[in-house]
Amino acid sequence: MTKTVVILGGSYGGLHVAHYLLKQKYPDVKVILITKNSHLFWNFASVRAIVKEANIQDKDIFGSIPEALSRYPAESYELVIGAATSSDLKSKTVTVTPSDSKQTRTISYDYLVLATGSRTSDLGPNLMPWKANDGYEELTKLLHETQEKVQQAKHIIVAGAGATGVEVAGELGFEYANANGEKKKEIILLNADQEILRGDSISSAARSELKKVGVQIRDNSRVTDVKTTAGGKTEVVLANGEVLVTDLYLPTMGLIPNTEYLDKIYLDKNGFVVVNDLYEVQGAEGIWAIGDLVGKPRCGFMITQKQAAGVGANVDAVLRGKGQSVVKGMPFDILVCAVGRSRTAGRMGVVKMLSVMGWAAKGRTLGIERLGGYIDGRVA
Ligand SMILES: Cc1cc2nc3c(=O)[nH]c(=O)nc-3n(C[C@H](O)[C@H](O)[C@H](O)COP(=O)(O)OP(=O)(O)OC[C@H]3O[C@@H](n4cnc5c(N)ncnc54)[C@H](O)[C@@H]3O)c2cc1C
Repeated sequence: MTKTVVILGGSYGGLHVAHYLLKQKYPDVKVILITKNSHLFWNFASVRAIVKEANIQDKDIFGSIPEALSRYPAESYELVIGAATSSDLKSKTVTVTPSDSKQTRTISYDYLVLATGSRTSDLGPNLMPWKANDGYEELTKLLHETQEKVQQAKHIIVAGAGATGVEVAGELGFEYANANGEKKKEIILLNADQEILRGDSISSAARSELKKVGVQIRDNSRVTDVKTTAGGKTEVVLANGEVLVTDLYLPTMGLIPNTEYLDKIYLDKNGFVVVNDLYEVQGAEGIWAIGDLVGKPRCGFMITQKQAAGVGANVDAVLRGKGQSVVKGMPFDILVCAVGRSRTAGRMGVVKMLSVMGWAAKGRTLGIERLGGYIDGRVA
């Protein structure tokens, strides 16, 4: 009898597992990929794509998922573009609202892989194009609108000095605050704490690179409120009561797991899915979770890739009646922040990387050349 594997989320984690399973050419397995987006969004490059002058085209950062799956026999898969809105992991069903209809659909499965990732928590009037929170049309529109606003603004506040905030400020600084020594815009990075990047060992290197591209960093500046004024400016209220006025406010802070469709018994207090060493959801056999919605050991692309490979192999083992293996993580943690188009701050484990090494590994292209591997399946 045909077994059904449902995968929720068509990003780095979910699409990787889909390719892996479909490449096995099982005679009796159907893979159903359910995702909000018809396109994989190479979101690492979003920080640079908001700068029109960087000349990143939509085709460079969006890869078609229908095209990715079209290389497999039509009867071996189904692609549903829509959002999972609820689930019952005991009766093995998930309810989905397809993007082209209001009619919900309940889909049964034998095995389930959860890969719906995370989103940034926007504090303010504008949505941000850092993650694929919406459909492809909405996301490309949001990206283009953000590009326009960035071009128009003379004063920009980037809030949140985690990796995304550092990279966004770095790209803006590179293009506008210190382009050929010319200052075209004020770029301010608001840091809630004393150190940027939560005091990571690359924090002072990143700070020094940001200064080189003309970014002004304001420490101990936690945002508590954001308001749009009648004149179209944005007022940013800080915890100390100070009010900053800006042309454009770009929030980057907070990470919320996309797990609202799951029963809370499967989640920790912050809403992340709890898994065991096999990456099976705690208390739900035959259901795995990978990537940002697990957030373990932290949210990150390479971590997601490792988990996707491990869980793909575990689903395969179960389908073949074999035992699962512990999912292996990264041997050491790698963190590289691009700071504009020519400099980086990074480390491999505890060993600091030269700026040029980080640039060659990440900063030069932000990895967009790897998008093709997710479409033609080389990734899995
Ligand atoms: C600006 C930025 C830059 C980054 N750069 C780096 C980097 O350089 N290196 C690095 O290691 N990490 C980086 N990251 C982190 C990286 O993006 C994540 O770790 C990665 O995206 C996790 O992939 P994922 O597959 O778990 O989920 P996500 O990429 O979060 O994707 C989840 C998918 O599920 C879909 N989805 C969500 N909810 C539902 C639902 N209810 N039903 C159906 N589908 C749903 C979404 O639309 C999306 O397609 C960056 C993050 C940001 C924000």
